[in-house]
Amino acid sequence: MNPLIEDLSHILVTEKQIESRTKFLGRDISEFYRKRNIDEITAICITNGSIIFSADLLRKVYLHVKMDCIRVSSYRDETSPVTNPEIIDHIRLDIEGQHVLLIDDVLDTGKTINRITSLLRRQNPSSFHSCVLLDKKGRRKDPYEADFVGFKIPDEFVVGYGLDFAERYRNLPCIGVLKPELQNPPEWQ
Ligand code: 5GP
Ligand code: MG
Repeated sequence: MNPLIEDLSHILVTEKQIESRTKFLGRDISEFYRKRNIDEITAICITNGSIIFSADLLRKVYLHVKMDCIRVSSYRDETSPVTNPEIIDHIRLDIEGQHVLLIDDVLDTGKTINRITSLLRRQNPSSFHSCVLLDKKGRRKDPYEADFVGFKIPDEFVVGYGLDFAERYRNLPCIGVLKPELQNPPEWQ
C-alpha cells in the first residue's frame, strides 16, 4: 500500500479507472483524426499538471505525434486561484498548418484553457482541439467545451496523477481529495 494515499480523505478516480479511460481516449482521438485522413498531430501539454496524463495518453494514440509544452502560472500553494493565468514558457514548435491537440489536467473556471486556446489559434494551426483529463463543469466562468474529456468530477480540489497541492502529490497513481487538515498545514501560516 502506498502510504501517500492515506493523506486522501477520499478517492474520486482509481488507478484502474484512469488506465482504462486513457486507453479508450487514446483510441477515440486516433480514430477521430484518422477518419479525417490526418495521420499526424502536434500535442501541446500544459505543464506541469498534464505531464503524467499526456505521457500515458499519447502512448495510446496511434498517430504520429509531435510534442511541446506550455507553462502557465495561475495557482500558488492555495486551493483557489490567486491570479489570472500567466504564460511563463511558450512552445518552441511552429504550429502553423499543424493539427493541434491541447492537453490539460483539469478544466475548472476555464480561464487557463481559454487564454492558451486563443494564443495558439492565433498561430494558424490547420485544426485545433483539446483534451482534458478532468472537467469540473459546475465551476466554469469562461465558457469552454473540451473535445475530449477523461472524467467529469464535482467541484472539489483534487490531487494526484499530475495534479498537485503545493507541488506535492503529483505522483499519486489515483485522483482524490486531500484530508482537510492537510490542505492548510500550520507550517504555511
Ligand atoms: P482554470 O483556469 O480552468 O480555473 O484552472 C485550470 C488550472 O487550475 C488547471 O490546469 C490546474 O492547474 C488548476 N486546478 C484547477 N482545479 C484544480 C484542482 O482541483 N486541483 C489542482 N491540483 N489543480 C487545479
Ligand atoms: Mg494545470
